[in-house]
Amino acid sequence: MSPPSQNDDAAAAGPDSEPESAVETARRQLQLAAAYLDIDPNTVERLKHPAKVQEVTVPIKRDDGTVEVFTGYRAQHDSVRGPYKGGLRYHPEVTRDECVGLGMWMTWKCAVMDLPFGGAKGGIAVNPKELSDEETERLTRRFAEEIRDIIGPNRDIPAPDMGTNPQTMAWLMDAYSMQEGETTPGVVTGKPPVIGGSEGRDAAPGRSVAIITREAVDYYGWNLRETDIAIQGYGSVGSNAARLLDDWGANVVAVSDVNGGIYDPNGLDTYSIPSHHEEPEAVMRHDAPETVTNEGLLELDVDVLIPAAVGNVLTESNAHDIEADMVIEGANGPTTSVADEIFADRNLPVIPDILANAGGVTVSYFEWLQDINRRPWSLERVNDELETEMVDAWNDVREEYEARDVTWRNAAYIVALSRLAEAHQSRGLWP
Ligand code: GLU
Repeated sequence: MSPPSQNDDAAAAGPDSEPESAVETARRQLQLAAAYLDIDPNTVERLKHPAKVQEVTVPIKRDDGTVEVFTGYRAQHDSVRGPYKGGLRYHPEVTRDECVGLGMWMTWKCAVMDLPFGGAKGGIAVNPKELSDEETERLTRRFAEEIRDIIGPNRDIPAPDMGTNPQTMAWLMDAYSMQEGETTPGVVTGKPPVIGGSEGRDAAPGRSVAIITREAVDYYGWNLRETDIAIQGYGSVGSNAARLLDDWGANVVAVSDVNGGIYDPNGLDTYSIPSHHEEPEAVMRHDAPETVTNEGLLELDVDVLIPAAVGNVLTESNAHDIEADMVIEGANGPTTSVADEIFADRNLPVIPDILANAGGVTVSYFEWLQDINRRPWSLERVNDELETEMVDAWNDVREEYEARDVTWRNAAYIVALSRLAEAHQSRGLWP
């Protein structure tokens, strides 16, 4: 089957259409990959739409006694392979469309990892930095109540994402359990281990980014010890990836947070730079020979660039100026469609988010299994099994990459979409 014309698609995106929404990007990527596969167009049509989007009003009492009303969403995209799965984000820019797009990415992510889950995403349009801990707790408990009828350990299992963390999941699990009348650890993942969370879950997305970087570096015949890496974002994904790659001998030369970045061509000591969790927004306070802006970091002449902060940072405006020889997507959706086309034309490999940061949902799956069996795994077992799952998924994607003349993103989508199409074919359309 002939591949779709890359240029047609870039033209369809339009030079001035950025930034496109997550749902537009996700649909475009679906269409691109579907063109390589002999799958029923009706299945592709179904996958363009979420199964359900719940929009809820979340009123809370602020600490000063006033009431403020927020809007929350849970977008459930597809559950043909298992319960809906995906994070909840607390961020001022959360919208219905963003949740749908990110939910679609979760469907592909779970399928590329061959996990028995579908895809979902949700969140609340709120700036969590402006809430006290008590307010965040009230917000979370009320949100849990508003979405209680559509979540559950066999229905839809939320997890942390931007602006949420294990404590958020603990409140959600408690609110759900209190209303259901039974302790239900499997309703969320990414909880603290003391209430059924998994060891290693926090570090897992960053760990998978490091594993995939190692595999990709090896694939291109480079030596990790001579590889210079720049990482945008020093939260859970960025800091864990940086430290693991540092442990494995790579030179992490630049890292940043929302205030900007630091750069040392001889390599930074990643452990002495506090992660966002250890000390929020402290990267710039660390001693380093040079500082860089977040935009400047993306354009550094390094071997590997890992955008691990927010979406849509690699765009039409900077794609030609990216000097890295490879991009590994740590964040969800850091590359716009037009930038993706430019990178494809430049033969610059971009290893996609749905593979690179999938360690989070993979260890979420391990957590869910531990919750069902009421039996915790050791950190060593979690990390060993994560290593196996990541290398297996890498190999599945690599086989498609080698067998067809496609980008790494399309190869990952082809793996995911083949599995989804087969499941849809087998189950059929109800009624
Ligand atoms: N929010 C994470 C992601 O984007 C994890 C989702 C999960 O563990 O369910 O992959």
